Amino acid sequence: MADLYLSGADLAFYLKGKGFAGEASALLDQQKNSWEMLRLNYEALGNVRVKTFDFGAFEVKVQFNPGRMTSSSAKVDAKSISERKCFLCRENLPPDQRGILYREKFILLCNPFPIFWNHFTIPRIEHVEQSIIPHFEDFYHLAKDLSPAFSVFYNGPKCGASAPDHMHFQAGERGFLPVEREIGSLLKRSGQEIVQNGSSLAAMIEGYLRHVLYLESDSLKETVRLSEKMYNMLRDVFHTEEEPLLNIIAYYDEDRYKVIFFPRERHRPSQYFIESEEKILLSPASVDIGGVCITPREQDFEKITSADIEDIFWQVSISPEKWYDLKSIFRKGLS
Ligand SMILES: [Zn+2]
Repeated sequence: MADLYLSGADLAFYLKGKGFAGEASALLDQQKNSWEMLRLNYEALGNVRVKTFDFGAFEVKVQFNPGRMTSSSAKVDAKSISERKCFLCRENLPPDQRGILYREKFILLCNPFPIFWNHFTIPRIEHVEQSIIPHFEDFYHLAKDLSPAFSVFYNGPKCGASAPDHMHFQAGERGFLPVEREIGSLLKRSGQEIVQNGSSLAAMIEGYLRHVLYLESDSLKETVRLSEKMYNMLRDVFHTEEEPLLNIIAYYDEDRYKVIFFPRERHRPSQYFIESEEKILLSPASVDIGGVCITPREQDFEKITSADIEDIFWQVSISPEKWYDLKSIFRKGLS
């Protein structure tokens, strides 16, 4: 295999922006020039159809994107995973794929099935399982290093990651997901503060079709500490030693780490499993729960209603009972 990693010198011709975000954009341009499938899939992204549902104080978009079929319908049970080649391990990457080494630990790659106009996948170099707890610090470093252009997101192994066996993050342009634009007004309208000190804020948000935990801080250390606490409290609420089901979106803005947690009850809604015309193939991960629902099948895009979205979000989000338990735990302990 030709050298997978491109250096600053390799990307110099494409470089327009600054920092790591600039290098990421340069990689995308380089790859569009040298990797035909990626170029064609980005061209196809120009033809995706989008519709918007207005819920008053916020909106949810639906994107018809046939390129996402493989990801949305990925079999992520242990047997299926053990029987396929890992598509994030370097020996299995497409021959034209190149990447940028990040902190000697991750590689930034262009996602060949884009949802965003700049869509990256950032796997660990080693094949280690998808797990956020050892990687919170990496996640927030990445959020800062990819600012201001991009947001980063994490899909738990049981709620949206199509490679639950290989640790990876994703990134896309900041502001694409409605939740990033809506979080400020949500906080004012229905945010219940659970931590407020000099540098940090944590809040629980309701009235949004799905329950949200929000965290912001100017300190990396504090962001990691509070994230770990939230994680542990979620484990307590779900009475599990495993990772609680989570989607997380993070970005760095106004010198602060801003983090949106979506605690989840289940991976896929009942509509996903129906084998009749009632079926809706929608497998929610960070992007969907962040406000851009991806339907790879046109019939689902055509027929989906605001009531379906409400029902799907309700099913996959943390249940009201667990949310209530979480609230009482937070009141006692998150500081
Ligand atoms: Zn792998």
